[in-house]
Amino acid sequence: MTNTQTMPRSYEVRTYGCAMNVHDSERLTGLLEGAGYVAGEAGNSDVVVFNTCAVRENADNKLYGNLGMLGEKKRENPDLQIAVGGCLAQKDRDLIIKKAPWVDVVFGTHNIGSLPALLERARHNNEAQIEILEALETFPSDLPTKRDSTYAGLVSISVGCNNTCTFCIVPSLRGKERDRRPGEILAEIQALVADGVVEITLIGQNVNTYGVEFGDKGAFAKLLRACGEIEGLERVRFTSPHPAAFTDDVIHAMAETHNVMPLLHMPLQSGSDRILKAMKRSYRSEKFLGILDRARKAIPGLAISTDIIVGFPGETEEDFQDTLRVMSEGEFSVAYTYQYSIRPGTPAAEYADQIPKEIVQDRYERLMVLANEIAWQQNKKQIGSIVEVLVANEGRKDGATNRMSGRTRDNRLAHFEIPAGEPAPRPGDLVNVLVTDAAPYHLLADDTSAYSMRRTRAGDAWDAADAASCAVPTTDGPKGAVSLGLPTLRTKSAN
Ligand code: SF4
Repeated sequence: MTNTQTMPRSYEVRTYGCAMNVHDSERLTGLLEGAGYVAGEAGNSDVVVFNTCAVRENADNKLYGNLGMLGEKKRENPDLQIAVGGCLAQKDRDLIIKKAPWVDVVFGTHNIGSLPALLERARHNNEAQIEILEALETFPSDLPTKRDSTYAGLVSISVGCNNTCTFCIVPSLRGKERDRRPGEILAEIQALVADGVVEITLIGQNVNTYGVEFGDKGAFAKLLRACGEIEGLERVRFTSPHPAAFTDDVIHAMAETHNVMPLLHMPLQSGSDRILKAMKRSYRSEKFLGILDRARKAIPGLAISTDIIVGFPGETEEDFQDTLRVMSEGEFSVAYTYQYSIRPGTPAAEYADQIPKEIVQDRYERLMVLANEIAWQQNKKQIGSIVEVLVANEGRKDGATNRMSGRTRDNRLAHFEIPAGEPAPRPGDLVNVLVTDAAPYHLLADDTSAYSMRRTRAGDAWDAADAASCAVPTTDGPKGAVSLGLPTLRTKSAN
């Protein structure tokens, strides 16, 4: 046997899309490592896995472009294996092999646990393997995991969605809502906390309908309260709720549970009732604003973020003005704004009254101006206050300013200065800082007079992980940019 045969094969996972995909990719890396693969260098691994998203515009063009480039590599190195999973794989299925015959494995959203076996079978049989299931086989959270972060974890409480928003491909790709039992969720959180995690984000396509499958309408609020009982868990977040099913018991649970963070991400999508109806979203702007009002009254200092789509088929200037009005009244700390574009396979893709691109672009730009202005106003209100920041993995120390970065309790990005002579906090440690300035999407804390730092078990876990990877424990974070926060769609690479 030669040396190369005994060398473990290396892998990289390229992740596109939402928090659910990031969560699934942590399972994919855990499964691969469990099967003996080792993390490889980006662009230089034996196995490349794409975890795809079907929501973003041009997702398919980008995927096939990337596959084209890898096809060249595979001609030079026939040992290279390429696997495509996630929502686009669930949608395109064997079309992927037709367009890129050098792909080895196609797997769907319901069977990520099959990846190692499919890779093995593809190698053994020298033939592409396509396996797409129509229903969930194993809840992704029950699969082995390799997490990206030492201090924060994503915990899936449900998958799938029972709604039928006309712009959205998710229900047809992820299926009906499946809820995980509360005991399993809490056991996973306990295990994460025991590993040093101090922040968890409960994720699901529609978290506040959690419990529908086992007949408990109050299950999500109960779950939040149960998180409050977990010792050592500092921060609990969740994404995303749906305004139609949102009930006040969740507001009360947020207000009364010490570690549930004061941030509510509440997707508006449109401020026009007519467009909401066409989107098949069964709340109206008045109900939406009522939720915000009640939540703000119950939770002091609550920040609210949202998602908005402009240019949905049939949207008139008057409809758009309604969106601007609700946007102003909503006073969002962040609005994630999207231009509507046709997603094949969705009902709205068939609507005749599609809006010309230049009108969509014009509205989008006007919406962005207002969104930035409101976000800036909201951030300026923080100036002069002392905020608690959880130091981020990406919280790299800037040599010139001695600054690091992290997230406040209400999820604002904050760059803070460390007093001269003080040790730098580690990712996962908590600092209190005085906000001295604000930009639309970050806070600055350059006055160190109020600075204090609390070392956490997450920081200790960071040191331990660093030591285990044979590096000398460092007080600087790794290089990289700080992401905008969970609700943002993002592209990232996990390996
Ligand atoms: S609630 Fe609507 S937008 Fe969200 S996943 Fe379900 S169908 Fe899609």
